[in-house]
Amino acid sequence: MAELDILIFPDDRLRRVASKVDDITDERRALVSNMLETMYAAPGIGLAATQINVHERIVVVDVSEKGNEPLVLINPEIVAVEGRARHEEGCLSIPGVYEQVERDEHIKFAAIDIDGNPYEMEAEGLLAVCVQHEIDHLDGKLFVDYLSALKKRRIKKKMLKHEKE
Ligand code: ZN
Repeated sequence: MAELDILIFPDDRLRRVASKVDDITDERRALVSNMLETMYAAPGIGLAATQINVHERIVVVDVSEKGNEPLVLINPEIVAVEGRARHEEGCLSIPGVYEQVERDEHIKFAAIDIDGNPYEMEAEGLLAVCVQHEIDHLDGKLFVDYLSALKKRRIKKKMLKHEKE
């Protein structure tokens, strides 16, 4: 296994829309285990393939307290939503920035697991936030896109400054 480099906002590659996965190969299985290692090392609770510059619809999440309940979401899709809620979010691609974002409160999503089996799961709270945040990554979207233009500009400046240091 290996840790992978995470793209940092405002890197243009974070804006690419990921394509659907049609086959679970050994290569993709290895990618998923590297993604999990990278996520745990960061440490984070979710990572989309887009963030490591692989533009395929693959996400890993683990919102458990001990970090021992990994979930793999291949070709994830939200199939039902209910209610709205605001939570504070952060992102491994925007280190050190935390802002309130409003999203769907309860969701039901469909995905394929690492063995190629389709499944559906209901989520609320942190898991619901995390799944929506990661699916956004696959569509080239970032949580700062939900903030005001002024705030977003400030964050961009901060990230670019950070890069130079
Ligand atoms: Zn993120």
